[in-house]
Amino acid sequence: MLCQNRKTLMILERLKELYPDARCELEHTNTFELLISTILSAQSTDKMVNRITKKLFIDYKTPSDFLSLSQEELEGHIKEIGLYRNKAKNILLTCNKLLTDYNGEVPGTYDGLISLPGVGRKTANVVLSNGFGVPAIAVDTHVFRVSNRIGIAKSDKVLNVEKQLMKNIPKEMWSLAHHLLIWHGRRTCNARQPKCEHCTVTEFCEFYKKSIIHQSEDTYISKTN
Ligand code: SF4
Repeated sequence: MLCQNRKTLMILERLKELYPDARCELEHTNTFELLISTILSAQSTDKMVNRITKKLFIDYKTPSDFLSLSQEELEGHIKEIGLYRNKAKNILLTCNKLLTDYNGEVPGTYDGLISLPGVGRKTANVVLSNGFGVPAIAVDTHVFRVSNRIGIAKSDKVLNVEKQLMKNIPKEMWSLAHHLLIWHGRRTCNARQPKCEHCTVTEFCEFYKKSIIHQSEDTYISKTN
């Protein structure tokens, strides 16, 4: 029987082969754009965020640029995105804090990031990892679901999943693992209908093993009825 660390590494190797280009899909050219995009991405798709920011970042590139907008004006720019009112409010508060406390720069520390309005643990980890190259595992809905399904983490609490992944994955692989699990969740291990027939980690996956057992039980029951 494989130990959990070894199993996790083998799964990540398979996912690396499947998604050699796995990376952050939020388009950005600097840490400020990454921060704004990540705040916008909560409960929205990266595709939608990229569509909005492609236009938004032409005229608004810095915290001062954003602060030239009223909340209503910013809402108008992002209204296609879910929770846009709250996000507009947080973005303006964050820009204000960046200017007041951080000289207009995005802080490169976890504590600095979570001090910003609208920035929680997941957003801070995304910015640290993709903007500053600091190893981090941001547990979003895909990472949470895929990790629990495969069995490389087992918890109904996001923080526990993050801790278990960090324990089983070498630090230098945290950021890559985060991308691989997200890409797998988006492209293969979908929430409603996972495409197990196209998956390359079925032999390790606890969800798959259970579903096969259920299928054989159902077949047995229907044959014996
Ligand atoms: S086997 Fe199915 S449930 Fe398991 S990781 Fe692959 S797609 Fe997801």
